[in-house]
Amino acid sequence: MNISINMLDVNDGDAIIVHLERSAAEQLVIIIDSGHKGDWQRVTTVTDPILKKANKSGPDLIICTHYDADHIGGLMKVVQHYNGQIRQVWIHHPGLLLEAFKLASSVLRSEKAGQQLLLSEASAFKSTLLAYNLSYETKQLVLESYEDMLEFVNFLQSSGIQTREPFPDISFPGWPELKVLGPTRTFYGSLLDRLGSPANVLIAEMLEISQNEKKRSRQIQTDPCLFLDSQNKSGVTAVNQASVILEITADEKKYLFTGDASLESFNNIPNYPESLRDIFWLKVAHHGSQKNSTFQLFNIMSCKHAFISGRRHLDEEVAECLTKKGAVVRTTKTDGDLVFP
Ligand SMILES: [Zn+2]
Repeated sequence: MNISINMLDVNDGDAIIVHLERSAAEQLVIIIDSGHKGDWQRVTTVTDPILKKANKSGPDLIICTHYDADHIGGLMKVVQHYNGQIRQVWIHHPGLLLEAFKLASSVLRSEKAGQQLLLSEASAFKSTLLAYNLSYETKQLVLESYEDMLEFVNFLQSSGIQTREPFPDISFPGWPELKVLGPTRTFYGSLLDRLGSPANVLIAEMLEISQNEKKRSRQIQTDPCLFLDSQNKSGVTAVNQASVILEITADEKKYLFTGDASLESFNNIPNYPESLRDIFWLKVAHHGSQKNSTFQLFNIMSCKHAFISGRRHLDEEVAECLTKKGAVVRTTKTDGDLVFP
């Protein structure tokens, strides 16, 4: 079976097009995330000729790994571009946050307008937000991406497009080569539960995004893999941790798509670490951030090829450690749009 992967250079975001070809009659086109809002045309420009070759009017499957703005941003316009000619969309849509989101949005709107909200829940929310001294942009970012997710899911449902929440017990008809490794329903539930109230989930998201920890500086002679493991790994948001981890098998080789999954996300894959052994091609998690990778993880995966999509998040020790482990590493930062093979 032929597989081709296009990973677009959308700064610190993901936009990936996968084309599987068993035979002329059996082909599958998948879009995994679509960068920020403004990136959608770059995605359709690359996807259109692939669809034409496959004799299809739209991608078979669209996967939103998680609803952060750099992944979900362009998806609505992509679906509209294909006029709903899409067999399935896989996306998580946690309703748990809805009430907190509505409240936080009204707090933010009133803050912007210089008004006071009289609701008691609003003032509690507001004072918590104040206590953390978060920037308006950070709050806006978290709330907007949740709103985009709600709007997108509503649009899909009203257009009659089949949506499924991606967990390890789902599959795509006729294509057993696709396997969702994570998140499990249990892990996903624990991510939503662990922070207590929905309001706290939102605040935690905002806090983690606003934290810009100073990185320890590295001596030139330090081994990149040892340095990678010496860094602080905490502070990956719950939304990132809930990223879909997808494995595609083609000619007995494993291709792994990871969104912004964390170390904990990998640890929670059923049958870990056996399930992550011998990955042929890897989309490095979270744009190459050191928080989402370790030497141990790379040892388990022992991947042959690694693609990294990112600029600001990309930590050079991640790429260097993979190279040291024998992988051919390519980054959108250096090479722009990437194509495999
Ligand atoms: Zn991301």
